[in-house]
Formats: sequence, C-alpha cells, structure tokens
Amino acid sequence: MNRSRRQFIQGCAAVVGATAASGPLGQGSGAAAAEPLTNWAGNYRYSTARLHQATSVRDVQEFVRQHDRLKVLGTRHCFNGIADSAHQLLSLREMNQVVALDAAARRVTVEAGVSYGQLCPYLHEQGFALHNLASLPHISVAGACATGTHGSGVMNGNLATAVSALEIVTAAGDVLNLSRDKDGSAFQASVVSLGALGVVTKVTLDVQPTFMMRQDVYLNLPMAQVREHFEDIASAGYSVSLFTDWQDGRINEVWIKRRIDDGRPLTDDREFYGAQPATANVHPIIELAAENCTEQMGVAGPWYDRLPHFRMGFTPSSGKELQSEYFVPRRHAVEAILAVERLREHVSPHLMISELRTIDADELWMSQCYRRPSLAIHFTWKQDIEAVMTVMPMIERELAPFDVRPHWGKLFTLTSAQLQGRYEKCAEFKQLIEQHDPRGKFRNEFLTANLYA
Ligand SMILES: Cc1cc2nc3c(=O)[nH]c(=O)nc-3n(C[C@H](O)[C@H](O)[C@H](O)COP(=O)(O)OP(=O)(O)OC[C@H]3O[C@@H](n4cnc5c(N)ncnc54)[C@H](O)[C@@H]3O)c2cc1C
Repeated sequence: MNRSRRQFIQGCAAVVGATAASGPLGQGSGAAAAEPLTNWAGNYRYSTARLHQATSVRDVQEFVRQHDRLKVLGTRHCFNGIADSAHQLLSLREMNQVVALDAAARRVTVEAGVSYGQLCPYLHEQGFALHNLASLPHISVAGACATGTHGSGVMNGNLATAVSALEIVTAAGDVLNLSRDKDGSAFQASVVSLGALGVVTKVTLDVQPTFMMRQDVYLNLPMAQVREHFEDIASAGYSVSLFTDWQDGRINEVWIKRRIDDGRPLTDDREFYGAQPATANVHPIIELAAENCTEQMGVAGPWYDRLPHFRMGFTPSSGKELQSEYFVPRRHAVEAILAVERLREHVSPHLMISELRTIDADELWMSQCYRRPSLAIHFTWKQDIEAVMTVMPMIERELAPFDVRPHWGKLFTLTSAQLQGRYEKCAEFKQLIEQHDPRGKFRNEFLTANLYA
C-alpha cells in the first residue's frame, strides 16, 4: 500500500476514536439544540438547529399542526440533504419502544425512532429474526425504510420490503394507518417515502423464526471469475458482499454470510473461485483493525450479529468518509462492474473501498429496486467532496445505459429529469404527496431539486 493511502486511513481511524469519545452531536432534548447539527459523517450541516424531540404520537400531531414546514431526522446517516429543513426538525429518537410482537402473525410493531441495533437483540430473545440488515445496525428503522436502505442477497429484498404496516401523521396532523394487506398501491407508495408523505410514527415489520449464521471471508478473487461466474458468486450464500478497490484486476474481499440452520459444518478452508480463505477477521478496508467488525472465520452467531458488517457498540465503518451508491438491473451486473472498472484510474485515488451487493426486486414505488432485481455498486470515498463531485458524473455516464438509479441517502449528481425518468411511478408518487401534503409541509430543498426541478 502506498504511504499516503496508509497515512490517510490511519487518520480516519483516529477520527473514529474521537467521534466515539465525544458522543452524538447536538441531540438536545426539548425545543432547540444549541450546537449546529450535522449528519453522521460530518459532511452535511443541517440548515437549522431547531430540533424537537417527540415523546408521543399526540406530541407529533401537535408539533405538525403548529408548524408550516418541518422534516423528520432519523439517526442522520444520510450523506445528503434529504433529511434537512431550514425551519424545524423533529426527532423520534425517544419513541423507540416495541409496541407489540404478534408471534402467530409473525409481525412486530415498533415506534418509528427505534434503531435496528435496539430492536434486533430483543427479537432474537423472543425467537424471531428480520430477513436482512444493512452494513451497520445503528440506523433507525423509519429512516432506513424511507430511503430504500438494503443489505445483500439475491433472494432478499431491501429492508423496506419487511414493512407490512405504517402509522403516519399527515400534514394536517391526522393519523393515517396503511397496511400491505388492505391498502394495495397506497401502501406500496408510502414505504420508501423519502420523508415526503408525513411523519411515520409506527412501523410493523415481518419477522421469521430466529436463525444462526456464519460469516466467511475470502481474499483476492480474480475479476475474471466475476466476469464468468457472477451469478454463482452472488448466490453463494444468504448474503454476499464483494469489496474492491478496483486495482489489480481483483475483488479484494468476498464476505459470505450463510445460514447454518441446515447443519452445514463449521469449517470451510477451501478456495472460493480462486480466492483464498482469510486466516483472521478482517475489515472491509484490510489495512484497518477488524475489532469493530462482526465475527468471521465461520464462527456461529445470531443473524443480527452476522448480517451487518459492523458491530453495535462500535463506531462503524471508518468514520470520516463520503458515500455514493448506484443500482443497476442485475442482468447487467457484469457489464456494469466492468464499466466501473474501466474508470479505476479516476475512481481509485479518491476511494476507500467499493462494495458490490445484490438486492431482490420489490413493488415499492420509489425503491431503487422497484421491479428490478438489482446490483448495487457502492463507493466509500475519502472526504474530498470536490474530487467526488468530479468522479460521480463519470460513473453515472458509464452506468447510464443500464438506467442507473442512485441511493436516495447518498451522494449523486443525476438530474431531476433523469431521476424522474427512471422511476416510472414518480408522477403518481407526486400526486400522492399533493393529496397528503398540499402545502408542501414536508417538502425540502432535496425533494424540490430531485423530484420537481
Ligand atoms: C456508515 C454507513 C453505512 C451505511 N450502510 C448502508 C447499507 O449497508 N445499505 C444501505 O442501503 N444504506 C447504508 N447507509 C445509508 C443509510 O442506511 C441511510 O442513509 C438511511 O436513511 C439512514 O437512516 P437514518 O435514520 O440515519 O436516516 P436520516 O438520514 O436521519 O433520514 C433519512 C430520511 O428518512 C426520513 N425519516 C427518518 N425518520 C422518519 C420518520 N419517522 N418519518 C418520516 N420520515 C423519516 C428523513 O426525513 C429523511 O428524509 C449507510 C450509511 C452510513 C453512514
């Protein structure tokens, strides 16, 4: 590894320590937070520090009725202004309880401020599991579902596909209940909501019997194998992630998460398409210490401690970073991967690591995977916004033939016209916003720029 990359990565590790020590930024209770509010990565400063912590649905209703413009803040893990408001911010962080677990119906209803990290151990103790998780458990359920957040697995839809019912406080302050069983398209329109339809106060999620998993990592998978065997590689486990820096014609690390309820043996030291099994736990960026990563080396553990890459009690990822991510139909996966690989000289100098994951298709209108089994090509960038702003349009141009859709919560430069053209339900989604929120109470600059410009 060259010296400047190593120095940069070590600098990031120091930032992680500092962030963990100083605690969350500016999450005061009551009507206002004293300090400026920033997102998790620190690259985005929200336009107001007026932050109200709601404690009940009634409190949310009153707050919504009292204000002409507001936005809900989740756990602030988005990298762009999707959660921003110039007027009022509302947090549901204190509304984080499990409301009901219906074991017979296999559904759990939670208050919308709960994070996966809070919910999952409880579910496991009760004998249940969610179908999938993102790379970190720290994010809120409502915020993740609003942006189409996903994990990996050819048979696994994004996290929002587990939602079976929602309770929403609309712009008028009324409570609206929607369910998959009763409300058809109105429900499918409202799950990946981009925060545009109202304040989600409760979410009901599908659960299944809890299960155990093992995680195995393989190093240095030749890109030629990806070209020849992508589908087999992506289907080699319940959830598969490929990490690459696009250098040297290889995937640096393959993380395979397998369910072990079928009694598979707990040793696996064979090659994987020419990649070698790792001999110790590793971080996606191999130069970083693996202590904040979930257990690997085939050690059995509960689903919630294997599906994410990062463990709860630790600051995840590398801290000071930017992210973007692009979704293409899975049938174009190999062409899309090769298209990005061709840009490696532009991409790699600004990159910490890329991750390739698959997600099953869904019926949620504004989901990046709406009616498309997808490949997501993710970029964790060094925090150099000018460089990233130069590289993203190159990637978007290369991926344009595949009707690329960006992650709603990460950085992108696609235009509003391009976005609207790539979401066939966008016009209907805007009609629904008009019905629920005729005066644009939940509209912010992000929505105006990306859905209306
Ligand atoms: C280190 C890191 C790792 C990540 N890994 C992944 C990954 O593996 N996969 C992936 O797909 N993404 C990933 N992300 C992105 C992340 O999952 C999304 O940004 C997600 O939206 C985060 O949820 P949040 O609560 O922080 O959302 P916020 O940024 O707080 O808000 C996002 C949107 O949700 C809305 N919202 C939040 N709560 C409510 C509510 N109660 N009612 C109505 N609207 C609401 C907000 O208004 C806003 O529009 C990662 C991000 C980071 C920083």
